[in-house]
Amino acid sequence: MSIVKVVVLLLCTLVNSSVVVAALDRTANYEGSSDLVNLRYHLGPVLASPVRLYIIWYGRWNPTHQSTIRDFLYSVSSAANYPSVADWWRTVTIYADQSGSNVTGSVALSGEFHDWGYSHGNYLSRLDMQSVIKTAMNSYTRPLPLDVRGGLYLVLTSGDVRVQDFCRAVCGFHYFTFPHVVGATVPYAWVGYSGAQCPGLCAYPFAWPGYSGMPPPSGDGIMKPPNGDAGVDGMISVIAHELAEVSTNPLVNAWYAGDDPTSPSEVADLCIGVYGSGAGGGYVGAVNKDKWGDGFNLNGVNGRKFLVQWVWSPVKNRCYGPNALD
Ligand SMILES: [Zn+2]
Repeated sequence: MSIVKVVVLLLCTLVNSSVVVAALDRTANYEGSSDLVNLRYHLGPVLASPVRLYIIWYGRWNPTHQSTIRDFLYSVSSAANYPSVADWWRTVTIYADQSGSNVTGSVALSGEFHDWGYSHGNYLSRLDMQSVIKTAMNSYTRPLPLDVRGGLYLVLTSGDVRVQDFCRAVCGFHYFTFPHVVGATVPYAWVGYSGAQCPGLCAYPFAWPGYSGMPPPSGDGIMKPPNGDAGVDGMISVIAHELAEVSTNPLVNAWYAGDDPTSPSEVADLCIGVYGSGAGGGYVGAVNKDKWGDGFNLNGVNGRKFLVQWVWSPVKNRCYGPNALD
């Protein structure tokens, strides 16, 4: 494995202590204008075929949290009241490959594997994620298939699992598997439950980033999580972020901005901290509040509400979501 590949594993850094502050400053630019962004296509594939999504629940998971996450994933391709998760995904489907095939609108939750026994321990390196996926495929009971024609693997680690760079540099990442580890090249993403380890980093804006050096806003300045748990509601937006990026840049050679391939800015990286119109400078933008005061910007199946960051629209040349006011 070349050093470049090792370094590329670091891509998709979402919200680290330096990025948050920088992102809060720069999002004002990206929400409103486009001149600074040079998102380009690098000739690689996008996920154009219907996606079959496989979850690996690594560690001990709260069933309530699991059902929130499942409902979000079901919502990507299901109708719900406008603005819905599926409406949000529509921006992702604008991206196409060189044959003109767009990112699919069909994302189906097709299998789940429960790694209750922490098969690779309670500390995982980035490369370990591939071994976790392989273990799920090798299980005697209900193994996941090696689905090379549309499979996308989502490793979700429970709150007691430490992951390399988690809470220090990343909240999630995506990459693709190596044939010598998993048996084929398939895209995957990892997201960790941050509720215990670093909600201020990875569950923003439901928890205040203490490292910011600024005092938390008074009153109800911290948004209340729409599904009742800062960790899992924060995770939803990170999962959405990774799904958008793995779909538009599955082999890290399709859609990204920047000239440095070892630290690309992908379609969601450009919109960190932006959840509604006017976002920037620490303001999440215009989002809704339900009758309990919980913040959300998208509707999902089963009456769910989610707060999900926007993604870069190549048509509007700015960050966009269906709850935009303009
Ligand atoms: Zn990213």
